[in-house]
Amino acid sequence: MISSKDAISLEDNYGAHNYHPLPVVLAKGEGVYVWDPEGNQYFDFLSAYSAVNQGHCHPKIIAALKDQAETLTLTSRAFYNNVLGEYEKYLCDTFGFERVLPMNTGAEGVETAIKITRKWGYEKKGIPPGEAKIIVCSNNFHGRTTTIISFSDDAGAHGNFGPYTPGFIKIAYNSINQLEEALKDPAIAGFLVEPIQGEAGVMVPDDNYLKKAAALCKSKNVLFISDEIQTGIARTGSLLAVCGDCTCRSACERQPEHYTKPDILILGKALSGGVYPVSAVLCDNDIMEVIKPGQHGSTFGGNPLACRVAIAALEVVKEENLAQNARHLGEIFRREMENLKTECRLISLVRGKGLLNAVEVNDSPESSTAWDLCIALKENGLLAKPTHGNIIRFAPPLVMSEPQLMDCVAIIRKTFLEFEADRS
Ligand SMILES: *Cc1c(COP(=O)(O)O)cnc(C)c1O
Repeated sequence: MISSKDAISLEDNYGAHNYHPLPVVLAKGEGVYVWDPEGNQYFDFLSAYSAVNQGHCHPKIIAALKDQAETLTLTSRAFYNNVLGEYEKYLCDTFGFERVLPMNTGAEGVETAIKITRKWGYEKKGIPPGEAKIIVCSNNFHGRTTTIISFSDDAGAHGNFGPYTPGFIKIAYNSINQLEEALKDPAIAGFLVEPIQGEAGVMVPDDNYLKKAAALCKSKNVLFISDEIQTGIARTGSLLAVCGDCTCRSACERQPEHYTKPDILILGKALSGGVYPVSAVLCDNDIMEVIKPGQHGSTFGGNPLACRVAIAALEVVKEENLAQNARHLGEIFRREMENLKTECRLISLVRGKGLLNAVEVNDSPESSTAWDLCIALKENGLLAKPTHGNIIRFAPPLVMSEPQLMDCVAIIRKTFLEFEADRS
């Protein structure tokens, strides 16, 4: 097998330099573990940005992939296929919506939601032609298309990619006051928000923020659009992050006191367990009906391979109680990190929900401390990556056991304490 050194040098020489990976090459994965070509084993604490919630190469999902790959992979939507309808019904039943629009990547899901929202704004709300606006939040991450980066305030994601798509109003995340103010504009069609801002550094909003935001939107006839591409599919300890503190298994059985039902729900990443790009946009019929034949689509969207993989991936989440496990292990993890914080000055803050957590490193965002810590964690067998300078995100697969988590806590503890000792 190719060595780590050669694999890295090939990517460096032939690939676009649009990423800055940690210097580790992954050649195999199983459950919570990954291995490099030299056979070193690591705990994966990124889970491909929460796409691999079900663990690497989950046997049930891989069996579905293999079986369908040998039967039928792609038909296009020029014809019906025998899996799409079953998948759409399964998604609707699971998440409590009437209709699904299937796409492939997360960014395509967000684009789809934006298009549905604008069209609904004109055709249902009566916004004058060309004037529809969508409210978004500062420090958002919704993907990489030209329209989506138009309303990003990450300089790298945004700079020199203009001219930009107009029609987006930016407000502070977690500010009900600013939302209320922005909603006074009658040309607002939707409010697009992440229930927890993952890329921004796992920013958890105040309790009831989402519920209040959804209620305000409803009062102004504005669509509440939840981007759950990273937070959804059990990551934060419930099937969806908008489910809040509910412990129900399906979409919180739609108990209104717990469940803030978005008007539009966007899913991706772990919808396929990281096996294949699958995204979906869900909403009820009165919204989805604005999209008619020929007005939106995708060659690969809704293909039978994607549908089989996604059904299996969601079944795994239910059968293995991954939401409950994420909730339980998340509480232990944050408690252990808070304990470490009392001993180690390198940690300034611990936050998160379920198994989407972050540790803020006590140094300036421009320093290389978080990166250096991730290198040291790698040397000790655990892979994590800094996000936004001095923040380290910790998001292992949700199939982790409690003893495995405690092994990981020991690695993090040892690494942080040694790093601090070396520096002083
Ligand atoms: C990853 C992500 C996206 C984009 O998904 P891609 O599959 O990379 O296009 C959009 N929104 C959120 C919240 C994400 O985490």
